[in-house]
Amino acid sequence: MVKEFDAIAIGGGSGGSGFVNRAAMHGANVAVIEGGLVGGTCVNLGCVPKKIMWYGAQVAETFHYYGPDYGFTADKTQFDFAKLRENREGYVGRSRNGYANNWNRNGVTHIEGFAHFVDSKTIEVNGEHYTAKHILIATGAQPALPDLPGVELGETSDDFFAWESLPESVAVVGAGYIAVELAGVLHGLGVKTDLFVRKESPLRNFDPYIVEALVEEMERTKLPLHTHKVPSKLEPLENGHLQLTFEDGTTHTAERVIWAIGRRPNISSLNLEAAGVTLTDRGFIAVDEFQNTVVPTIYALGDVTGEKELTPVAIKAGRLLAERLFNGQTQAKMDYKDIPTVVFSHPAIGTVGMTEPEAIKAFGDDQVKVYTSSFASMYSAVTQHRQMTKLKLVVTGEDEKVVGLHGIGYGVDEMIQGFSVAIKMGATKADFDAVVAIHPTGSEEFVTMR
Ligand code: FAD
Ligand code: NDP
Repeated sequence: MVKEFDAIAIGGGSGGSGFVNRAAMHGANVAVIEGGLVGGTCVNLGCVPKKIMWYGAQVAETFHYYGPDYGFTADKTQFDFAKLRENREGYVGRSRNGYANNWNRNGVTHIEGFAHFVDSKTIEVNGEHYTAKHILIATGAQPALPDLPGVELGETSDDFFAWESLPESVAVVGAGYIAVELAGVLHGLGVKTDLFVRKESPLRNFDPYIVEALVEEMERTKLPLHTHKVPSKLEPLENGHLQLTFEDGTTHTAERVIWAIGRRPNISSLNLEAAGVTLTDRGFIAVDEFQNTVVPTIYALGDVTGEKELTPVAIKAGRLLAERLFNGQTQAKMDYKDIPTVVFSHPAIGTVGMTEPEAIKAFGDDQVKVYTSSFASMYSAVTQHRQMTKLKLVVTGEDEKVVGLHGIGYGVDEMIQGFSVAIKMGATKADFDAVVAIHPTGSEEFVTMR
């Protein structure tokens, strides 16, 4: 017998949950099929455990760098990784339960198992068949691996969150969010860490002013960054460590190696051919601006579409799709422009809107002006470890509309959300200047730049 619903989401992570909860609130009879851990990547192997590790590294920084100059001395600080891990996993477990409770409260049917299409209207899970008027694919992504000999000796961010103890040394390969964040956490927790990027810098899509500051901070805190390093093989050594070889013939030895070179969509077991769903050139599920695939009644969103792989993006896209399908909002769709984002590096990077190079490309050199501010955060300025904050506004046209806002430094992670509202509303530099500063803070610089 085929069980029928108004809507089914394949994947109970950020996007799938956002969709089914909102659809159920509008009275739809919905099911979510989840084959792995309830809550998906963000809760179990992403944002949540990562942020706790980032906080852990910040506590370590406070002890080592800043505490002594604030008059705090701890003769012998001890770090118990097992304790941090236990508390982190406790928090992750509670967050996971929160997802399951929400489904229950909203009357969403939870089907446990991995789904695949039988045809465009039928899904099979553990031998049972299901159908729905609307089917959402929100199966997320998984770490991509380089194609080189010995790749299996290396690990990924998923493995990192399973570590029961910290190694003595780690080589992180990659140049995006995950490479920068994990390298920062490991270094902060006292692991000998080296970061290897294949081009001239990490985070090449971010504003160069901010990336330069990140690289300077890595130098200051002695986190070795190796540029133009393309890995060619990984081999085991007799002492249990690993040797990475690069295309330029150089080698590096570490106890563990983490690949953090991007993510690929979870589609291989879905049998998309049976449904007729097509892919983009990059191998993600192809959708239009309303998250429609080429098959009417099948939709996709979140990481599986490769579009802005961020949790709030997947959640919002899911909720908007539910509004469109079940609440008569026929034009509801995700706006992928001006999405604020934070890289939890040390210190954090926050950004919304266009970088300076992007603005120049869009508006022309003579139409773009930038304002910057660079200062040692007050938190660090009274210590020997002066950590720089760098902020930047990118404005365009005669009215100096703010099209980009970027920062790196203490507290920047919490600064960006509010400013994103102003940018989304089309604020100009004059609007920023009309606001009274909050003193003494770092964010006041954004409304006092000359
Ligand atoms: P997911 O949350 O991954 O959910 C997909 C679900 O589908 C999974 O639970 C999976 O088990 C399930 N599934 C897959 N195939 C099937 C199948 N065939 N049948 C049934 N179920 C299936 N984003 C942020 O905004 N902020 C951060 O700080 C942040 N940090 C991150 C740190 C790391 C290390 C990583 C890896 C990611 C991070 N992200 C962060 C990105 C964020 O986690 C993702 O963008 C988000 O989880 C995407 O949501 P999704 O619903 O598309 O996929
Ligand atoms: P990213 O896409 O951010 O970065 C991966 C980078 O690795 C590429 O841009 C590329 O940079 C480099 N790379 C690609 N292939 C290779 C290779 N073969 N060898 C060496 N380097 C390579 O991927 P991540 O895995 O870091 O993260 C995936 C996504 O998850 C992010 O884009 C983000 O959307 C999300 N995320 C968000 C976080 C947050 O919000 N704080 C945290 C973590 C993840 P280059 O071309 O410069 O070499």
